[in-house]
Amino acid sequence: MEIEKHIQAIIKEIDPSDEEAEKTSKRVAKSYEEFFHGYREEASKVADDAFYKSEMNDLIILKNIPFESHCEHHISPIVGFASIGYIPNDGRIIGASKLARIVDCFARRLQLQERMTIEIVRALESLLKPKGVGAYVEGEHFCISHRGVKKQGAKFVTRYFSGELKGDLRREFLASVLGK
Ligand SMILES: [Zn+2]
Repeated sequence: MEIEKHIQAIIKEIDPSDEEAEKTSKRVAKSYEEFFHGYREEASKVADDAFYKSEMNDLIILKNIPFESHCEHHISPIVGFASIGYIPNDGRIIGASKLARIVDCFARRLQLQERMTIEIVRALESLLKPKGVGAYVEGEHFCISHRGVKKQGAKFVTRYFSGELKGDLRREFLASVLGK
């Protein structure tokens, strides 16, 4: 309700003649609910006990997970792809769809891409206690492409690695993720 009220005030500032301001503000508030739903989620709950045992002891990757986020500096959209991987410890693995849900859990917040990349890695570390985690995130920030310097198509790339993925495996992870 509060958000609705404030959005309405913003619309009135931008276009005092807008007679649809009330309806628009309701729609905007509803979209905000979706955009920032991550604040009502916890990575541990998102994973929902979808843990399994497997003989797999090599690198597992889910790549090109599309995400939408908003930068905390301009509240403008960030759209891109995240690829995440881990090396299971003692065969402990997680359902593939949960990896995508973990990305959403952090993307649906006001974000810094750098922080989001680290948060994803830390969440997997605490959920799986794996031997290593890697994340590669590519995002187009609308605050760069549609305002200010207006550099459309410029992609912001962040990576973060932990445990064994900090070593030689990091190169293998990046090769898989970048399709080389
Ligand atoms: Zn920004």
